[in-house]
Amino acid sequence: MPIGENIAKLHGALPPHVRLVAVSKFHPVERLMEAYEAGQRIFGENRAQELVAKAPQMPADVQWHFIGKLQTNKVRMIMPHVAMIESIDSLKLLALVDKEAARIGRTVDVLLQLHVAQEETKSGFTVDELLEAAKAGQLQGFEHVRLCGVMGMASLTDDMRQVRREFALIKNTFDALRTGVLAGCESFAQVSMGMSDDWPIAVEEGSTMVRVGTDIFGAREY
Ligand SMILES: *Cc1c(COP(=O)(O)O)cnc(C)c1O
Repeated sequence: MPIGENIAKLHGALPPHVRLVAVSKFHPVERLMEAYEAGQRIFGENRAQELVAKAPQMPADVQWHFIGKLQTNKVRMIMPHVAMIESIDSLKLLALVDKEAARIGRTVDVLLQLHVAQEETKSGFTVDELLEAAKAGQLQGFEHVRLCGVMGMASLTDDMRQVRREFALIKNTFDALRTGVLAGCESFAQVSMGMSDDWPIAVEEGSTMVRVGTDIFGAREY
């Protein structure tokens, strides 16, 4: 199906409070423009070089979300381009993002990535690490990052009950922070979970932001 129709279908299917991030990694800007022309404004990329190469070629009102493993030596290069970094997976990275945002005089939205999946290759805070860091006051006090919520991925499995359990754990952890230590943090409102294979379950479990690639742009050629 053409990209524009896929976008329209998703926008029609998602509840109004759920934002769609079009994950455009590995796809050329001509295809991103098809999504843009269908009204899509939030695009997700997981590699710094690719995001930095695409950003100047797309209209200025595109909001770029960084969703991949972010190496510390790449923070500076993406900072002028990103609206949100969804994949903050350590306190060290959080502090560095704050510092680099300050350096260019801006504030950047961030999500804290939770590791709930079985695969060791996925990164992020464990639930306990994140709750401990919050309790210790280590998430707050940064002036150039806006804590906007959490992001997570479910395991790669056909067992949809497990996927649902993992999404529920992400949502519960978000709720614990939002009603607990981060209760005073008004920006802390987003739960980014759900991809092409599992976004309907994620939405049922409380997602406010889905990251969809394949269902929009088709399969990626690596
Ligand atoms: C690639 C990717 C997605 C999108 O995956 P699809 O299965 O193509 O929808 C979502 N989130 C992250 C973090 C990704 O790397």
